[in-house]
Amino acid sequence: MQDAMRRLDALTQQLIEADQSGAGMEPIAVARELGVIRQLLAQAPAVIPATGGQQHFRCESCGTITHGAAAPARCTTCGGRTFFSADLEQPAVESAGG
Ligand SMILES: [Zn+2]
Repeated sequence: MQDAMRRLDALTQQLIEADQSGAGMEPIAVARELGVIRQLLAQAPAVIPATGGQQHFRCESCGTITHGAAAPARCTTCGGRTFFSADLEQPAVESAGG
């Protein structure tokens, strides 16, 4: 997620500079970078894992997050079939009294 945000900020800055300097930017270069950023956002873990083993899955097409034991067959929002795990890594649990 942080990588996606950093790339988005950098692209925004490049567009501003391209406009102010009059140098312009290649539209296809902007499109490619936006494609990379979109993929990073779709795959980025964002949910604190639930207790009890339920997992969270983000639809690659629309971003809807569904929870359950496994990814749904289809997204209930858009019908998409591709999902990425949205759960953040569990922090290591320190033993009490240590
Ligand atoms: Zn969807």
